[in-house]
Amino acid sequence: MKNLSILGSTGSIGTSALDIVRMHPDRFQIKALTAANNILSFSKQIEEFKPELVAVINEKKAMELSRSLKGSCRPEILFGEAGFIEAASYKTSDIVLLAMVGAAGLKPALAAIESKKQIALANKETLVMAGEIIMAKARENDVPILPVDSEHSAIFQCLKGSRKRDLKKIFLTASGGPFRKKSFDEFDQITLEDALNHPTWNMGHKITIDSASLMNKGLEIVEAVHLFDVSHKEIEVIVHPQSIVHSMVGFKDGSIIAQMGQPDMKGAISYALSGPERLDLQMDFPLFATLGALKFDAPDTQKFPSLLFAYEACKQKGTLPAVMNAANEVAVNAFLEKRIDFLDIFRLISKTMALHTRIDNPDLFSIIEADCWARDNAQSLI
Ligand code: MG
Repeated sequence: MKNLSILGSTGSIGTSALDIVRMHPDRFQIKALTAANNILSFSKQIEEFKPELVAVINEKKAMELSRSLKGSCRPEILFGEAGFIEAASYKTSDIVLLAMVGAAGLKPALAAIESKKQIALANKETLVMAGEIIMAKARENDVPILPVDSEHSAIFQCLKGSRKRDLKKIFLTASGGPFRKKSFDEFDQITLEDALNHPTWNMGHKITIDSASLMNKGLEIVEAVHLFDVSHKEIEVIVHPQSIVHSMVGFKDGSIIAQMGQPDMKGAISYALSGPERLDLQMDFPLFATLGALKFDAPDTQKFPSLLFAYEACKQKGTLPAVMNAANEVAVNAFLEKRIDFLDIFRLISKTMALHTRIDNPDLFSIIEADCWARDNAQSLI
């Protein structure tokens, strides 16, 4: 039996993780859950999984939650960053699934590592902002960081049984998002509804917009650099619209290992929670005979400069990846609120990165300061 804390339990990853727990009640027990503000579905989760501790975004939501809980289910209710940190380091939890969106995941991630929990990491922004610090802290505390992102889970699985020094290349696959076939001339007519309509993956709003802009793949390049301790030069993004190959690794001898499956996050989540043991997830295999061909293509960096931003951030390091991430978060929020156009996302990130005075080897304080600066700067550009 593994004791689990889930941060971000009402999001797409969180609900998939709870689906797995529901399928395997003999394997997992929920000890702590957090959610931002979706109180209705959060209270249902609490009544079903009976955590000992829960946290929401603020005091108002905490009171709302307290009122909505019925019957005998009375967990300790906390709120705000302190509450998320408490849930991340909850005494009886063995594994913490970090599935919050954006930079808000950083401090809970550090708290979980410092309390020596196993980390199942779905919050890529944390590694993009402070990859060096997070990975160093994890090594120091002898804590494994288990990837939940499907591509990184794939790479992690492909590397099992191989020696790191034999690794030559990572092929990071990308679905290409909904605008893969759109010509650049049509990009200024893209609407929010178009961008939220992802062809293969069903996910939350932030990551769906990131997938449409390919910023998601950009963030994943930085994530892979930290998780697998490789240079960005060893990472090649390959567009694979069917999302069957979740990523591949190439070795010195020219051999390539790929990890495949249906585009369903449950595979990656369950591998992080129980690997190397594989749980029965009642999942169908891809129908290779009817698929006919697996398709691959090069990404178009003129249409999607996001990959160039990410390679530049990896090259310059320091506070630049955090700045890229923060500018993107502001841009995505503004796009979701229909305050800017799709192409403005690229403009905001590019301008903010160009205006930033980079700090090398930043400590956590400098990273958070750079993050705040980038948010203010991107906001003022809007
Ligand atoms: Mg991914």
